[in-house]
Amino acid sequence: MVDCAQMLIAGEWCGGGAGTADVLNPATGAVIGAVAMADRADLDRALDAAAAAFVTWSRVSAYERSAILRKAADLLRSRAEAIGRLMTSEQGKPFPEAKGEVMGSADHIDWAAEEGRRIYGRVIPSRAPNVSQISHRVPLGVVAGFSPWNFPVSQAVRKIAGALGAGCPIIVKCPEETPFSCVELVRCFADAGVPAGVVNLVYGVPADISEYLIPAAPVRMITFTGSIPVGKHLGELAARHVKRCTLELGGHSPFIVAEDANVDAALALAVGLKFRNAGQVCASPSRFMVHERHYERFVDGFVKGAEALKVGEGFADGVQMGPLANARRLEAMEAFVADAAARGATVRTGGRRIGNEGYFYAPTVLTDVPDDARLMVEEPFGPVAPIAPFSSLETAIEKANQLPFALAAFAFGSSQHTVSQLADGLEAGMVSINHFGIASPETPFGGMKESGYGSEGGVEGMEAFVTTKFVSTATL
Ligand code: NAD
Repeated sequence: MVDCAQMLIAGEWCGGGAGTADVLNPATGAVIGAVAMADRADLDRALDAAAAAFVTWSRVSAYERSAILRKAADLLRSRAEAIGRLMTSEQGKPFPEAKGEVMGSADHIDWAAEEGRRIYGRVIPSRAPNVSQISHRVPLGVVAGFSPWNFPVSQAVRKIAGALGAGCPIIVKCPEETPFSCVELVRCFADAGVPAGVVNLVYGVPADISEYLIPAAPVRMITFTGSIPVGKHLGELAARHVKRCTLELGGHSPFIVAEDANVDAALALAVGLKFRNAGQVCASPSRFMVHERHYERFVDGFVKGAEALKVGEGFADGVQMGPLANARRLEAMEAFVADAAARGATVRTGGRRIGNEGYFYAPTVLTDVPDDARLMVEEPFGPVAPIAPFSSLETAIEKANQLPFALAAFAFGSSQHTVSQLADGLEAGMVSINHFGIASPETPFGGMKESGYGSEGGVEGMEAFVTTKFVSTATL
């Protein structure tokens, strides 16, 4: 395994002034390397480099920027196998999923490369003759990005590719727990010809970095993916310094199976979706609500599906679920299940750690979980699925909407009436009915309520990195 994940500052790969931190393999708990940690001098160099790069990169034509980004996407695809291996070693997910994440991330770069060429302004008819009024959409400035460990490459790529496509340099703090795959992602941009200072990669103590970068003068935009408490804190900091901010925070997604749903299709999707990445997905379904007519059948099928999953080390043949990414998630699952059980929940399957090496937790299904259990009001972010019956769809939708989070919502139903009731009634940034249809590069990804604001992906995602500059010119 590689030794120390380096940072990229002003075009130079380097160590950090604050030493290093260990990187662990979550399947074993063993140290597999280290990551460089930035101090303030490192961050100052990154800020200076990004500020200087803004002057040049924002003036590179959108056409040229697009060509460089497309090259980065091609490099990423060609290196997907190796980068996927790094990701599985440091994050734990099954290798095919890790490689798939890298391939999908290349699509995100291609999208940003193309969409960056379509940032149009407009001509506004003037009241006076000989006056031209043009509203331009111009790059906003240096971006500070903070990306998490659950999808090390695909979370970081949305921030980097979006910023670069729109003409903004970025200083991105990638996750210290999964740094190696992020290093290789950033290397693709550097190798593709992105000039020095346009992408700066740093690691360090997250709070120290965000508190230093967000107020810094060159930084004009913050983009963060992570937990709601941290998002609120960074949002406050951004507001205090009048910086634009995109927050992609947690969720607690309902999954509704209506009376007229195709239950087999719902089941087939539900199990895979719930336990993908060991449930450590912000848009993971986490509250299953099933019409009483299908409840027992759904619970039985779900339990069978959960028990049939092959859980293990991400490189082992046929493994469908790896370990949790870190010890904190393991402790969190144990606490969620203990709390629910103490309040009367029934553990239908799982509910325990697997083995005593690494951070494996069994796919878990709970029923009879009271609404005030922690699992029902806090984002589980792990492989635990509470299932409850309902008799009226209106009430189920009401219940689905009652939490302060509103990232994603999933539902199955067949009649036109049911589908429109679900589509209209569910309050979430992304609603997906009768299939999994969110998170592609061309569609907006983001939440409502405390799940955050702003979007990544889609034209909305590019909008985050540009601002309006109005120019009025009189011909004398
Ligand atoms: P956490 O709240 O400590 O950290 C979440 C993420 O934010 C991490 O990537 C971390 O490095 C970063 N972070 C923490 N404090 C920061 C700060 N002051 N400034 C900048 N970045 C900071 O929790 P955790 O144990 O790492 O993750 C668990 C929780 O985080 C989950 O319950 C889930 O809600 C959330 N999470 C969400 C996503 C997502 O995709 N939205 C991804 C990872 C974690």
